Amino acid sequence: MFKIMRVLLIGLICCSQPLSAAVPEDEQQLTQAPEDGWTMPSAVVLIDAGHGGIDGGATAGSTLEKDINLAIAQKLYLLLNSQGIPAVLNRTGDYALSEDNRWHLSRSRHKRDLSQRRQLTEEIETTMLVSLHVNWTRDNSKHGPIVLHQSSGESALLAFCIQDTLNRQQQTAFYPREGKPFYLLRRVDQPAVIVEMGFISNSADRTMLTDPRQQLKIATAIASGIRQYKWITR
Ligand SMILES: [Zn+2]
Repeated sequence: MFKIMRVLLIGLICCSQPLSAAVPEDEQQLTQAPEDGWTMPSAVVLIDAGHGGIDGGATAGSTLEKDINLAIAQKLYLLLNSQGIPAVLNRTGDYALSEDNRWHLSRSRHKRDLSQRRQLTEEIETTMLVSLHVNWTRDNSKHGPIVLHQSSGESALLAFCIQDTLNRQQQTAFYPREGKPFYLLRRVDQPAVIVEMGFISNSADRTMLTDPRQQLKIATAIASGIRQYKWITR
């Protein structure tokens, strides 16, 4: 129940923001959960804002991946909903999703965090999962976006569409890759991708990733990739 309350809370918080207020009521689909009378959100895209709380993700000085992921996830949420693509966001603040996990009896906070993210893909009716992350490597010349996908063709197509629009936005020419070792890609049933939006370890990428106007451009590119995928698979 706590999980459900948190998701609903996210809906309420997000819906209080100006852009989402423009979303027509019929696009804010809610389905009735018959067993307890609670309404469960349904949407097309579940946006996973990577890391959070105690888990900062990749770092460069005082710049934390979790903050970049959240800032861009919120922009993507508002953009998609304003473009008629219902989306939900799995965290709206700086907290770890493992804190919501009361069901996975693992001592590993990391495992509880990941299983909670996957669980939300089952509890919220969505047709795709887009997980936002930022890359890090010792070689600080490495830059640019990389989208990781599951082995399924739909996931690869979604990754190709988002990679293409991010390549245009960042003037790069990278290909998406299969992300076999990643838990979310292995365990989520619907088409899922991990979007590594750039490298926190590269100074030009870091400037882009932390600038609100550039963040909006990244979110716009991801939304455009999602729209292309939806158009191809309609
Ligand atoms: Zn990450």
